[in-house]
Amino acid sequence: MPSSNDAWVLVIGSLNMDLVARVPHLPAPGETLASEGFATVAGGKGANQAVAAARLGAPTAMVGCVGDDTHGRLLRDGLRHEGIDLRALRTHATQPTGMALIAVDRASRNHIVLVPGANDTLGTADLDAAEASLAEAAVVVCQLEVPMLTVQQALQRAKAAGKTTVLNPAPARPLDAALLAQVDWLVPNEVEASMLSGIAVTGIASAQQAAAVLLARGCAHVLITLGAQGVLHAHAGGMQHHPAPVVEAVDTTAAGDTFIGGFAARLAAGASAAEAIRFGQAAAALSVTRHGAQTSIPTLREISAA
Ligand code: ADP
Repeated sequence: MPSSNDAWVLVIGSLNMDLVARVPHLPAPGETLASEGFATVAGGKGANQAVAAARLGAPTAMVGCVGDDTHGRLLRDGLRHEGIDLRALRTHATQPTGMALIAVDRASRNHIVLVPGANDTLGTADLDAAEASLAEAAVVVCQLEVPMLTVQQALQRAKAAGKTTVLNPAPARPLDAALLAQVDWLVPNEVEASMLSGIAVTGIASAQQAAAVLLARGCAHVLITLGAQGVLHAHAGGMQHHPAPVVEAVDTTAAGDTFIGGFAARLAAGASAAEAIRFGQAAAALSVTRHGAQTSIPTLREISAA
């Protein structure tokens, strides 16, 4: 078990159960369709990033909310099994656990209906309940699958307590300057960077332009993840491109979550930015060589072996 002297990663965010049905074609309005296969997959960007940070070596705590239902119990058990501190994981009495209802056709196109459920109830009282976890944390990580006001308060409290803050602005939503001022590390992918900056990010050159816009809006550091092209790091001192390891990718689900978890874990351990980026990318590269979401996130031992 980690000791109280270890530097913790605190993740404040969503937990979802993904219900994935394979279908012959995407249903038309009003159509009822039998599935050809079905799986339930533990997800939610918050939970995925917490699992990544924990497997990749950081003592990790999660602030979130699940429903009083089977999905909630499965998600809670899964995180407990990873050794994640769940003192601030609440169970809501009436709201369902967050779900993504996903239909995937034979050409891998999908329809996704997100049911926020209990995630949408995460609020100030949960942050109050997480005071002890916040005090122990070195790095606080948020995404945008819980109410924006909660994210704002979480980042504000974290900054006031002298913590390093990381925001993965996913799913992309407009962010105001007051919120960006609380963010040490803004980590969007190409789609999110495009939406936030108004510049279509398709590679390194356009990522540089988008990053300049985001820096001008008050972020201290911007890390734009560019899939197989790696990561662009932009800050007041300049911009660096960090190439991704070359691997045979079979499934890039949760690559971004793995990168963020690994990056946060190394930052919390006191690594330099360049080392944390390198480590996050090594973890993400290993994850894309495997199928699955949380199941594809590697452990510290696997990274060392690779
Ligand atoms: P998201 O999963 O949020 O869309 P990206 O696709 O940008 O995020 O991937 C995040 C990180 O995962 C990348 O910056 C890179 O380090 C790694 N990665 C993703 N795809 C590949 C790939 N095909 N080969 C190697 N690394 C990859």
